Amino acid sequence: MRSKLKVVGVEASLPPVAILVDLDGRVVRRPVSRRRLRSLLKRHPLLREGQLSRCQLNRARTRSRGRGRCRDMGPISQATAAILGSRGGARSCEVVSSRRMDTILKQHNWDSGEGVVGFHTPDQRIFVTRQWSLPHEWAHAAGLVDDRLGMWICEGLTESVAQEVARQTRTPYQPTYEYERRLVEDHLAPALGMKPLDLARQVVKWYEGGKIPAKEIARLLGDPGLLSDLDRGTGDHPSERLLARLKKTNARP
Ligand SMILES: [Zn+2]
Repeated sequence: MRSKLKVVGVEASLPPVAILVDLDGRVVRRPVSRRRLRSLLKRHPLLREGQLSRCQLNRARTRSRGRGRCRDMGPISQATAAILGSRGGARSCEVVSSRRMDTILKQHNWDSGEGVVGFHTPDQRIFVTRQWSLPHEWAHAAGLVDDRLGMWICEGLTESVAQEVARQTRTPYQPTYEYERRLVEDHLAPALGMKPLDLARQVVKWYEGGKIPAKEIARLLGDPGLLSDLDRGTGDHPSERLLARLKKTNARP
């Protein structure tokens, strides 16, 4: 029997995909029609457009407001550092227009695109078109990047941290990468016997110690053969093989 599905998000990829959660809390993806997509986007206006290839992009359909230097970054910076145990952070932070964002993206060889709300450059500069994107981009700047980590792991952990930072600092915030966050919180972190925020902290620590997070996670899962499934380039979701492995580990008594 088919279980009822609750829509939690939608991705305007080709073909359009709805991200749903069934009654058992399992996250599934289903293709949807363009028409259905349009109606879903009305209720979920901040979801992504297109397949992203790198962690630093944080897309949503939105326009910019309140341009200039980011204000009051102290609380976000302190809360992020406390969670991640990192001294890293952005060396500059700017709220820009969508047009300027497009220019910045092109300069960094990324596809420009309507709806990019945050970008973290390799030289630690943050550009956002929306202030609410700051906790997410700040977590990247503090060391949570996908250089040697699958994009879905990086984005999922980044969202976990950003949501906690927003909660602690009472910063206005809108979630993105919900699918990736759930994968990390419901499957990956439990399989490693860690809380999601502890895993995020550990990833930063591995990077700072010159280690490869994907390799360390494969080691903790007891299967070095999983490295390629955990490393950068794995796209925005885990392989079937890895997912089966995580579920098996989590099913242990
Ligand atoms: Zn991101």
